[in-house]
Amino acid sequence: MSTPPPHPRLRLFDLPLDVIDLQGTLDLLGGWLIDPARTPHTVVTLNPEIIVQSRSHPEFAGAVQDADLVTADGVGIVYAARQLRGEDVPRAPGFDIVKGLMEQHGAELRVFFLGAKPGVAEAAAHNAAREYGVTVAGIHHGYFGPEEDRRVAELVAQSGATLLLTAMGAGRQEVFNQEWRGVLNVPVMIGCGGVIDVLAGTAELAPAWTRKLGVEWVWRVAGDRKRWNRAPRLLHFVRLVGAEKRRKG
Ligand code: UDP
Repeated sequence: MSTPPPHPRLRLFDLPLDVIDLQGTLDLLGGWLIDPARTPHTVVTLNPEIIVQSRSHPEFAGAVQDADLVTADGVGIVYAARQLRGEDVPRAPGFDIVKGLMEQHGAELRVFFLGAKPGVAEAAAHNAAREYGVTVAGIHHGYFGPEEDRRVAELVAQSGATLLLTAMGAGRQEVFNQEWRGVLNVPVMIGCGGVIDVLAGTAELAPAWTRKLGVEWVWRVAGDRKRWNRAPRLLHFVRLVGAEKRRKG
């Protein structure tokens, strides 16, 4: 771990949460990106899914605990921070971070696109290069087992990437970045769920109004049958926050 960031850090369910907004995040990551030391850093954009899963998967919890930066991805985390800590935490969602970095750094950014179904990361890389002028350091799909982790991590290391987008589903992506950070050796590694799909155009970004209100998950759950089973998990999260609040008195 590098020097602690200059912003407050809360604890939510035994996980860290940095009180930092989007611009603060972009400034911090920008500094990491241009540092000639190339110190590896991991970024987690915390969402209810990760909190719920981390309670039964200690390795997920460990990956979040050891991350260099943990931002609030959405309104669920803002709600939990208000309920449990009485704090208003700003959001810095994964997609906005990735887009902001690409806009600010353009061709200086060497991006490795890791994740999603075969072919999707290629389309994402193509679009990002066209739209933001980023340099594509490498591409790999996200459907491989743990026995292939080292091979993929070495591929990333050899690419000389400065930004690694790991989009292999909540939990798996955070654990991969944290476990292999020494081999990956990328200045900024971010677990960013469906971001590669959005960049590729295979998933639509939630409409602006839902993003403004911080409720894009409502749109995603409603619009995607595969995600319908997640609605009860979100209710579970709300109940979990209530139970934690009572426990803390
Ligand atoms: N994904 C992947 N490998 C896997 C599972 C998922 O690369 O083993 C990709 C998936 O194709 C999608 C992204 O991870 O691009 C996010 O997947 P999903 O929406 O299921 O996960 P979430 O982050 O919402 O849990």
